[in-house]
Amino acid sequence: MIGVAVHPTEQAVVAEFFELFKTPWEFYRDEGQYDVLVCTRRQVPQNTAKLVLLYRAGTAEPETETGISVKLRHGGAMLAYEGRRLPVYGDVATFPGSRFAPVTEESAGEPAMSASRWGNRRMLRIGYDLFKEARHVLETGQPVANAGSATLEFHIALLRNLILESGIPVVEIPPLPERHSFIICLTHDIDHPVLRNHLFDHTMMGFLYRATVGTVVNVCRRRKSPRDLWINWSAALKLPFIYMGMARDFWREFDRYAELENGLASTYFVIPTRNYPGRPFVGDGVSRRAARYDVTDIRPQMQKVIAAGCEIGLHGIDTWADSAKGREERSRVTQTLGTNVTGVRMHWLFFDEKTPAVLEQAGFSYDSTVGYNETVGYRAGTTQAYKPLAAENLLELPLHVMDTALFFPGCLNLSEADAERMVWKLIDGAAEFGGALTINWHDRSIAPERLWDGFYLKLLRELKSRGAWFATAAKAVSWFRKRRSAVVETAPLKNGSIRIRASVRADDGLPGLRVRVHKPGSWQGVEETPARSTRTFVDIILNGKIDTEIRL
Ligand SMILES: [Zn+2]
Repeated sequence: MIGVAVHPTEQAVVAEFFELFKTPWEFYRDEGQYDVLVCTRRQVPQNTAKLVLLYRAGTAEPETETGISVKLRHGGAMLAYEGRRLPVYGDVATFPGSRFAPVTEESAGEPAMSASRWGNRRMLRIGYDLFKEARHVLETGQPVANAGSATLEFHIALLRNLILESGIPVVEIPPLPERHSFIICLTHDIDHPVLRNHLFDHTMMGFLYRATVGTVVNVCRRRKSPRDLWINWSAALKLPFIYMGMARDFWREFDRYAELENGLASTYFVIPTRNYPGRPFVGDGVSRRAARYDVTDIRPQMQKVIAAGCEIGLHGIDTWADSAKGREERSRVTQTLGTNVTGVRMHWLFFDEKTPAVLEQAGFSYDSTVGYNETVGYRAGTTQAYKPLAAENLLELPLHVMDTALFFPGCLNLSEADAERMVWKLIDGAAEFGGALTINWHDRSIAPERLWDGFYLKLLRELKSRGAWFATAAKAVSWFRKRRSAVVETAPLKNGSIRIRASVRADDGLPGLRVRVHKPGSWQGVEETPARSTRTFVDIILNGKIDTEIRL
């Protein structure tokens, strides 16, 4: 059991952190018995815990006893841990004289940790405030430069490793659905489902330019094939006939996703209102945000995908800022399609610090807007659905990969080979940390002139080969809620085993959970350098109740 001693203002973020690192813990009580004490206070409470983890940049009480020299840096720093970069956004302390250096500050190469004895206990001082960092990434999010860092997952991994390497086992419920290596949410923002609606507007002009000149340029750069050139030029020549209703509108065939996905459930986010750009997010110039369609235009296709087991969510216009508008936009989609809409992603990813509370008031169960327009990666530093700190019940399913961010000239502008490297790295992240990887492939991305269907198919093949659970966004969120509702308790036994009791409801048709028992490293005393743990673990499937003993 971990005891957590923090300032009362940090309690909400601590509670959320331990929903993501789901291991037995409680807020520190004077009479509590803990194996590990995690503390961010200036004064570490007197306790019998074998290991004290003091996460703090500012001065702390035990330093006067141990005489460690501390250097304080304001405004963040990049740390290095096991070959990875761990961005820290608040103050960072380094310990130039420390002989214990698993974590270092990158620019100066100085240890950002120190180890010492404290009475007969081990004290590890980590030079940043863990929960301030968790708050920052969940509330403010990471800048584009750090998009590739699953920062919150790294913090969890570091905390877990420090405990194990101090000879203490860790029991947790990892974000891994039973029998699967991670979760995949395939999603489609429906922005341009009818080419005919775009007569002489910027979308049509952009299409014509990219289909003709743009494709020639891309063939020269070997980013498109001569066959793509043929398809795109034919598509451009057909344009007048599409407007006259004499040729098929190839953007309307976005429901071909059902064929490509072949039974994998995905989620379609649908715009409620046509020709309405919504209220501006920053400044003016949002007239282009208005969609040239609304949900009534695509009813037959949407009913087909609903029948195939897919989910419909709202692609919100004003929902991010106004709960009354949110209810209105949602009920328009619900009533037109006759399906229950519980989730939302905002068009152009509009979102601010008040949005979670606004969405909750509008009755949404989840949002999937927190991601980047211009790059791919972990805006909130995590692969997991989390509860925004301003929300009571709403979960945020972060968005990780968007097609336009990969391929648009104004964004990453990658070749398919480079996009593959970047996305496969995120798949590796999901395989390592568990959780869900959320992908957004737009409606028109499988049609001329984008022709990004080949890449999408390759991506699907890769994901299937990695043993992912393909779930609609709503199902994935329900699974995370199930994990949040699970209870796990442990008690050490005299014979060197550990007793584990855990429970979760099992009658919900969702995959079960796992209880993971990490075996500790060999470190047993109060030495300066703990042993590297063997990082071995045992998994027990949890779907209902378990009460068992595991030998460590
Ligand atoms: Zn959109």
